[in-house]
Amino acid sequence: MTLQFIAKTMRARIIQPGGAAIERPIEMRINPITGRTSRITFSRGLETEPATERLPDPPPDARATDDCPFCPPQLERLTPRLTSAIEAGGRLTRGTSVLFPNLFPYAAYSAVSLFDQQHYVPIGTAAPAAYRDSLLNCGDYLRRVRIHDPEMIYQAITQNHCPSAGGSLLHPHLQVHADRVASNHFRFLERRAAAYFRETGRRLFSDYLARERIDGRRMIGVCGPWQWLAAFAPEGFYELWALLPDVTALGDVPETAWGDLAEGIIRAQKFYRSLNRNAYNLGLLAVANGKSALELRVVMVVRPNHAPWVRSDHTGFEIMLGDMATFNAPEETARGARPFWS
Ligand SMILES: [Zn+2]
Repeated sequence: MTLQFIAKTMRARIIQPGGAAIERPIEMRINPITGRTSRITFSRGLETEPATERLPDPPPDARATDDCPFCPPQLERLTPRLTSAIEAGGRLTRGTSVLFPNLFPYAAYSAVSLFDQQHYVPIGTAAPAAYRDSLLNCGDYLRRVRIHDPEMIYQAITQNHCPSAGGSLLHPHLQVHADRVASNHFRFLERRAAAYFRETGRRLFSDYLARERIDGRRMIGVCGPWQWLAAFAPEGFYELWALLPDVTALGDVPETAWGDLAEGIIRAQKFYRSLNRNAYNLGLLAVANGKSALELRVVMVVRPNHAPWVRSDHTGFEIMLGDMATFNAPEETARGARPFWS
């Protein structure tokens, strides 16, 4: 039940093409929250990942605003509308953000929250206010869904930045999901946080953060109440977490803290841009049942660059053996990210 930060080094002995015998280290880490193992294959980090020599060019459809359903004037005509039970006007607007249902829902309630009218926004260049407004729109939508349909307790906000991270449309947006059925991560995290609280009387991510603060090597910085750090046992490249200690409900996040989160997300984007990476996934999960012990955590992971002929970050190793392999130490990630928070 206690949080254990375990890392083990294994060594692969090989004879190099030149004839020299060498050992190459592979680190296996156990995720203190999930118990899942992941690996850091340092030797892969010695090569340059294809298409990361520089930031890739904008995608071919970066100017194709006429074909984009999220660009005006198509938005009005081509995007679906919310039922009147959620919003009589059909869409939620907040500053520059517009929210409407997902035409291809993944959950009982699935919506899309735009940041603004800009069709292509290179990573790290978005306005924090647009992200704040979009996040606030998501929070407002989830609150309305919960009032209308109290069983919709599994609530998430996600982002696929660029098609190589799963985004089907280039126009930047967040996805919002609410369902009565838990996904795998919800099911595990809800139980884990509840069991931890039952046995220790303390909250899981608060304790994780306390441990990480003492260690210090993976701490990055703060934006308002959000604590940013590199994941100890990453299951994605350059995995960053933003923890909001002691807050378990999206409705308990003050408006200013949404602005702080937006600020942190843009800083993370700038860090990723400094690595010539243009794609990532983001996720924030909350169990809105009024008694959840699961504190709010935003996770961000870099995905393969959106560029021609880039290889996937999920190889036979990840898909078939089930251990994610990244190439650099989380402590290195934290060191690289810190300047963007100072
Ligand atoms: Zn567009």
